[in-house]
Amino acid sequence: MSTQTSKSEQLPPYWAPRSAMFEDLYSKQMDRFRSLRKPIVVHRVKRILSVSDEVRDVQCTGHFTRPIDILPVACANPAEADTHRSRLVAHSEESTPQRVSSTIGNKVVVVARINGDTLWDLTRPLEASIESLEFIYWCDAASASEDAGASQSDVDELDEDTQNLARHVFWHSSAHMLGYAMEKILEPCQLHHGPALDAVFSRKAVSEEEKAPMQSTESIARTPEDRAAFLRTMCAQYGKADKIVTGGGFFYEASVSQAIKEGVDFNRLQKQIGSIQRENHPFQRLVVTQSEAQLLFADNPLKQKWIAKSAETEGESCVFTAYRCGEFIDLCRGPHVISTGVVRKVILTKVGGVQAAHTDSASTKESTTACLQRVYGISFPTNALAKVFSEHIERASTQLDHKNVGIAQNLFHTAVDMACPGSAFFLPHGTRIYNALLSFLRKEYAKRGYEEVITANIYDQKLWMTSGHWDKYRENLFLIASEKTSDAASTADESSKKELVSSMALKPMNCPGHCVLYSLSAHSYKSLPLRYAEFGVLHRNEVRGALRGLTRVTRFVQDDAHIFCTPYQLHGEIGRNLSFLGFVYEKVLGFTDYKLMLSTKPSDKMYIGDDDIWQLAESKLQSALNSFCFAHVARAVGVLRGQSSPVEHDGHWPVFGSRREGEIQGDSMQAFWQSYGFETTEYTGTEDNIQNVIALRRAIRDQLKSAAESSGEIESPIARFVKDLVADARAVELLKALFETKLWVLNEGEGAFYGPKIDVEVCDSMGRSHQLGTTQLDFNLPQRFDLKYAEKAKDSASQSDVNRPIMVHRAILGSIERCVGILTEHYDGGKSWPLWMSPRQIMVVPISKHHFEYAAKVQRVLKFPELFHSQEAFVSAASDEADIDLNRCALDDGEFADSPGFYCDVDLTDNKLDKKIRNAQQSYYNFILVVGREEAENGCVNVRSRENKQLGMKTVGEVIQKLHKLRKEFWRSQSVPGWE
Ligand SMILES: [Zn+2]
Ligand SMILES: [Zn+2]
Repeated sequence: MSTQTSKSEQLPPYWAPRSAMFEDLYSKQMDRFRSLRKPIVVHRVKRILSVSDEVRDVQCTGHFTRPIDILPVACANPAEADTHRSRLVAHSEESTPQRVSSTIGNKVVVVARINGDTLWDLTRPLEASIESLEFIYWCDAASASEDAGASQSDVDELDEDTQNLARHVFWHSSAHMLGYAMEKILEPCQLHHGPALDAVFSRKAVSEEEKAPMQSTESIARTPEDRAAFLRTMCAQYGKADKIVTGGGFFYEASVSQAIKEGVDFNRLQKQIGSIQRENHPFQRLVVTQSEAQLLFADNPLKQKWIAKSAETEGESCVFTAYRCGEFIDLCRGPHVISTGVVRKVILTKVGGVQAAHTDSASTKESTTACLQRVYGISFPTNALAKVFSEHIERASTQLDHKNVGIAQNLFHTAVDMACPGSAFFLPHGTRIYNALLSFLRKEYAKRGYEEVITANIYDQKLWMTSGHWDKYRENLFLIASEKTSDAASTADESSKKELVSSMALKPMNCPGHCVLYSLSAHSYKSLPLRYAEFGVLHRNEVRGALRGLTRVTRFVQDDAHIFCTPYQLHGEIGRNLSFLGFVYEKVLGFTDYKLMLSTKPSDKMYIGDDDIWQLAESKLQSALNSFCFAHVARAVGVLRGQSSPVEHDGHWPVFGSRREGEIQGDSMQAFWQSYGFETTEYTGTEDNIQNVIALRRAIRDQLKSAAESSGEIESPIARFVKDLVADARAVELLKALFETKLWVLNEGEGAFYGPKIDVEVCDSMGRSHQLGTTQLDFNLPQRFDLKYAEKAKDSASQSDVNRPIMVHRAILGSIERCVGILTEHYDGGKSWPLWMSPRQIMVVPISKHHFEYAAKVQRVLKFPELFHSQEAFVSAASDEADIDLNRCALDDGEFADSPGFYCDVDLTDNKLDKKIRNAQQSYYNFILVVGREEAENGCVNVRSRENKQLGMKTVGEVIQKLHKLRKEFWRSQSVPGWE
């Protein structure tokens, strides 16, 4: 049996014949291309530095000129473009693709796109005249933003989808390099396939301070010129590429004889890929027939299968393409980057096994040793991007990981290895965070018309059968073996006893209990909506391997509530819920970036409820989403028009490329846009909608820029619109709203069988998305539990109708456990808990032991602010007051009678002052209060922030007042307003 070592000198036996065959076919292909040469025209070449600009009618030679030859035309100034165009013929030489650079500034051109839809290798000769040619690149935002004076050329002008195409081609090309290395050093190795994966992004952490300048509108200049400059800067800021790629990449799947090891094998593969990169092999494309493909890959049964399958699905005329780079040839549709040198850095990330490999009929016994394995990697066009990626991964996997932080900060343990897998243990400080979230929600519930309820934890099988969980969800239920289930059990035979003892189950969700609760009393349309909230303990029997930290647990509590309402109340309920959610995510937790998705009726007819109800519910959800998402725009338009109220936010946006004549009257978004001559479309969450909004933003940016460069005649709607904005100091609010507006996305047919839903994905400070809350409509449970309400009688003669309520399942934080885990990572790995939920809020540090008593006195009033009556009373109160009279405390009504206490500790160690302060900072106390003789005499403390800013001497009264305010406002910035 061959081993995977000491094969470096020996090349795979199939390489030489494969290469010879490729060479032969490739030169025939070149001959054919030569005979097919003819004049062709590329009608429009999009310029790279400004995709809205283009060069027209570039004369080329068919089967000869390659996109890479036209690249200089696309980057040149319009004046220079003509010179390049005349030189095109001289450039094209198919034998030297590796000499051509495809890098322009910080943009690495990856692939070409013709006629707006077909990707084309940069070195593949064009065949016939084409309408348009554009170049798709990967922009290195990492090095662009390090450079303070980012110019226009640093900005990534390509839209999201196009950028994704660039990364796909780039990563897929990198997979070839990995396959190359695998064939060379893991021999025997049969490659299967090596696709690219979708990119995962993070945003560069932007501190509250960095955001501040954009939020303040006071500095806007008064003259139109200065204002235009300000608006230009502001809009450019929104377009700035601050996203970084932190996931995605590619894998190559192969059948190898031994398990690939991440350590030793990765080193060898990585080294090999390094030389492939340095050797800068061009990617060469060859069109082959089915039989040629079969011959080329005669040694690879996995590829043979693939060829046969493709031929079967695509028919006789099916053509294949093979690509060669260096000695490596692979069957592939392409396209690829021009050469392996373009891929600057490849990082192998992990190896994964796939289910049992293909079984070779001849050697079924040995099939267990040959298993399919995947080597995963990611690659970048510049070292700067690779570095950003590596740093991010390092930080996310160790420093921020909530499982580590939980233990390091004595908050919680997630892997308590006893008989309770998946149940987290919260220590006192972790419980403070947990309870801060619960009490915040309770307070909000009271304001927002929710009623808290308490229902059972264990339910009989009958209930789970009614709710449908017994059929659909049984494997996730924790069944309870109860000896006392029935007296009958003692007399029944063994088998029926078993049946009886496991007929109870722990609840995995609160909904069925709330249906029972609803059914206990009669309801009419007047008593709806009902909003039941419950912090019930839930258990789900997850597969042990799937359990992870606080994010996947068996025991958890949700901020769960169920709203029972009529179909006509849906709009209001969903709207209120969205606004609650927006408040919690943005204002309270600081998730400023989140995405809303509406999932509608499943397309496969496997749904319950009448089509009418679905349609009504979906239209209510859609209009609630529009109201929520476009509220800021509507308000800003109102302000711009000098109105005190917002215009009607009907979600209308301009459609570009069309004009509309005539003045339009009205007080809606539609009328607003149409008054500028835009044709509009209603926002319904489609891809086209999103593109329209992106196009509007881009057009505003471009217009602001070109208005500064020229003062020509204003004619287009966008020019008129921007001119008006520049003229009006109130416009900044509208621009901000247009750029900051959250766009909801339609997931057509993705709803649950029982109703449509709105999911929300939040993006944490590391740019990872998490789904916290959900809003799901349910037509099913009310039917299963036969829930009713009396409808208003249609006329006085008839009886009142009996209708089913719609049930809305909604959660904002989702599982509290999981939320604590996400927040731990979001707040810098537990280093920046906001004051209101911080487990360690204040540390009092006495300078020496002479001030221990005063320190204890300060601690006492911070823990019990109701004891503070006045600054004078505080100064004169005895320091040695041993214990507080707790009964008096409860009845007292001092200055801060309504302020709950703070978590305040005092450092009574013998450590030196510096050491005490450092210790407090390393425990991430929000504030450190230093006290000495002077402070004691005046009833003061010397305040330091967690970030070690000295905020000066303040009276204890001032401190309580300030901290109370900061806590109430969910303050989470690094600077303390009013104290700095
Ligand atoms: Zn490929
Ligand atoms: Zn529910």
